[in-house]
Amino acid sequence: MSNKRVLSGMRPTGKLHLGHVVGALNNWVKLQNEYECFHFIADWHALTSDYADTSRIRENRVEMMVDWLAAGLDPRKSVMFVQSAVPQHAELHLLLSMITPLGWLERVPTYKEQRDNITDKDLGNYGFLGYPVLQSADILMYKGNYVPVGEDQVPHVELTREICRRFNSYYGDVFPEPQALLTPVPRLPGLDGRKMSKSYGNAIALTEKPDVMKQTVKDMMTDPARKRRSDPGNPDICPVGDYHKVFSDENRIAEVDQGCRSAGIGCIECKMWLFESLQKKVGPIYERRQALEARKDDVLGILEDGATKAKTVAQATMGLVREAVKI
Ligand code: SF4
Repeated sequence: MSNKRVLSGMRPTGKLHLGHVVGALNNWVKLQNEYECFHFIADWHALTSDYADTSRIRENRVEMMVDWLAAGLDPRKSVMFVQSAVPQHAELHLLLSMITPLGWLERVPTYKEQRDNITDKDLGNYGFLGYPVLQSADILMYKGNYVPVGEDQVPHVELTREICRRFNSYYGDVFPEPQALLTPVPRLPGLDGRKMSKSYGNAIALTEKPDVMKQTVKDMMTDPARKRRSDPGNPDICPVGDYHKVFSDENRIAEVDQGCRSAGIGCIECKMWLFESLQKKVGPIYERRQALEARKDDVLGILEDGATKAKTVAQATMGLVREAVKI
């Protein structure tokens, strides 16, 4: 086990789905055996865009923790906590905001892209622009060495590195420069073939009961050119084919490929195979989730313990920071 630290967070904006498992949680579960991991539920980050309706944020925090535990995160290995339970993040964010030039924030690609694309919320607020500064505080607070991210998040980590260098150049070497830990993420589209998104309603939530999931899989879009059972299809342009590549074993993937292209199998049969594969991979998560639902006090206790551990580190870091800034 390396003594390097991994930092990662997730915004509690609603139910987690298979995309979160494939895109982040599976990797986090692996990383907790290799590094010292800190995972936080980024409730302040959720406010940067969802500030107008905070009615579900507390509930979402607990549900997220249940999802994480069900997916295999282990409180004996990873420190898991709610961001706002460690107020030192806000103090470091404030200090970092003093030294971060506005231009650095305005040129972050996701800032412009989201302001242009998200039309149902006013993202002209200061908090949304400052999101990457808060993220820098989250990472630097724990002297994080690695941040597991997909390609689209690399500019954020790059910005954290720039802020880190600027801080160290003004006040002395307080923080190590974190690095992006690029994670190859398998392609998993939404059930309808579009980008998977909560707002499109095209994802399978971890709370979905097996019989509901079966129906969801039955309703999935297929290769649109395969209109009749006798038409050959192409699993490379079919969401069901994409899901098989992520959740099925090699033999099954080969059977799907051959059976689809030769019209040897029908789409219903193919979808039932997919349901079987999903049950093998996701069924245990659902069962663990059910058991955790009945132990909400334990879940809250895990979050409290995590916050205590995180605060110990955060207090030590802020001691050094205040000393360095002479404040
Ligand atoms: S057989 Fe499977 S992969 Fe081929 S089009 Fe039908 S659902 Fe898609």
